[in-house]
Amino acid sequence: MSQPPIVIDHPLVQHKLSLMRRKQTSTGEFRLLLRELSPLMLYEATRDLPLEMRRIETPLEPMDAPMLSGKKLCFVPILRAGLGMLDGMLDLVPAARVGHVGLYRDPATLDAVEYYVKVPEDIGERLVIVLDPMLATGHSASAALTRLKELGAMSIRYICLLAAQRGIDVLGEEHPDVQVYTAAIDRELNDHAYIMPGLGDAGDRLFGTK
Ligand code: URA
Repeated sequence: MSQPPIVIDHPLVQHKLSLMRRKQTSTGEFRLLLRELSPLMLYEATRDLPLEMRRIETPLEPMDAPMLSGKKLCFVPILRAGLGMLDGMLDLVPAARVGHVGLYRDPATLDAVEYYVKVPEDIGERLVIVLDPMLATGHSASAALTRLKELGAMSIRYICLLAAQRGIDVLGEEHPDVQVYTAAIDRELNDHAYIMPGLGDAGDRLFGTK
């Protein structure tokens, strides 16, 4: 059974997202905001990770201290806009491994076309966190998740900034095991599959292309 998306409504997340949406926000500001937002999203998406007590010594005495005990993490940004979320995630979990999935949307069919995939060999033993700021039609997200499962990923979470209901529904049907985290669910998709009101083309805004 698919789980409903978790909307991260923390005030800092919401404020930074609103700044990113504004059309006058520059490329540099947009990039910095996405980097700042990413660990806040990760913080929420990892709040149920298991802990175990381990014996440590403080300078004053031994104690049993909580430490992460579950699967190690693997971040997988979907190229190219997902790259904008990666450094902020690594700031929080520097030891994580990183895979990459390169997909682009065929402008005519809106289908996802794969051009690059590389993931760690032990991806099956890791908690895989897929990064892509925009969950629009869900086609590329679903294609990326299918590919990651073919490569052995067993436990996957998906973090985006903005989602459209259509994309959420597609992932819910095709990948009901994947929990989606988003900062907002916007009104609709336009005829070009852009999220409305959205923030425009995340890759273009991040890298200053058009
Ligand atoms: N990708 C984007 O960058 N923006 C959208 O609105 C939808 C998909």
